[in-house]
Amino acid sequence: MMKTPISLIIDDPAPRVLAYYAHIPGHTLKDGRAIPREVPNSFMEKFCDIIERYSIRGKFSVIPMPLGEGNILTGIPGIDQKEVDEWLTMAKDRVSKLFSICPEMLTHAEAVDLKTNTLLPMNEEEWSNAQTADTLTPYIARALTMLKDAGLFPSGVTSPWSFGCKVESAYAESVAKAFFEVFKQKNSWYFLHCLGDKDGIKPWIAYEKDGLRTVSIPATTDDMFWQTMNTTDTSDEYVSIIADQLISMDGKTGRIIDILKSGGYPILLTHWQSLFSNGAGTGLRALCETAKRIEMHLSDTVQWTSSEELMRMTLDHPADYPKPAFL
Ligand SMILES: [Zn+2]
Repeated sequence: MMKTPISLIIDDPAPRVLAYYAHIPGHTLKDGRAIPREVPNSFMEKFCDIIERYSIRGKFSVIPMPLGEGNILTGIPGIDQKEVDEWLTMAKDRVSKLFSICPEMLTHAEAVDLKTNTLLPMNEEEWSNAQTADTLTPYIARALTMLKDAGLFPSGVTSPWSFGCKVESAYAESVAKAFFEVFKQKNSWYFLHCLGDKDGIKPWIAYEKDGLRTVSIPATTDDMFWQTMNTTDTSDEYVSIIADQLISMDGKTGRIIDILKSGGYPILLTHWQSLFSNGAGTGLRALCETAKRIEMHLSDTVQWTSSEELMRMTLDHPADYPKPAFL
């Protein structure tokens, strides 16, 4: 019997900087601790070690103009370009062997005016929801081109926040058209929907016209590692409790087990800041513990799968991947 795909969605990574820094006014957590603007490359190295050790697959965002300040090709203010390049080399040589790479649009902050290359006075989510396929396509194409110029080869895109949710059919069409324009690729995927409270969910085809197809890949869990940012508890007990939410130590309970029972695919959601845990790395340890438990209890049941592989499965057998009725 075919194993059920399991996949990990990682939102918000960018070379050396923490996109989340720009998302919180005042750059402080609820408990008053400062949110760092930067993530050392040693954290990226540790992350690569863990995904390689457990052969974890999924999708990994690379924000091309993180914080809306500079870009990964010509420089980010205050960051040594050598370190940006070192991070990108790890993304290329290590992460992309397991994860599908994607942009999370241009800045994951304010939207960019493509003509003047200046920031608009609204964030990308707000901007996107007032657009059409004609204006979204060049925006997405710009993001794809920047990753291509950095030596990365995306197969899909991630929506910063709920980018495009109010104009989703235009958005899906734009993703398909941008991929064809930049890479002559006819198939692509995007991540927009967080369906951590629904059962039996799998990806589905969101756009299909003139030989171009785009698959919507949803998350089917909440980000269970997010809360590690908001505590100074780094004990093994705490890490175990975090992992329990996805899969218990005995492999009998947790969201992953519930999803498998419901006939859906476990498509786990997390964020770079959730793994970094404000410098403590507690979330990354919880991911490691989760992967260890999956390997121990579910190696006959599930198979780590990238977003590009999920896209191909969906396109090869569309009848098995209906769009959820509630959408
Ligand atoms: Zn994001």
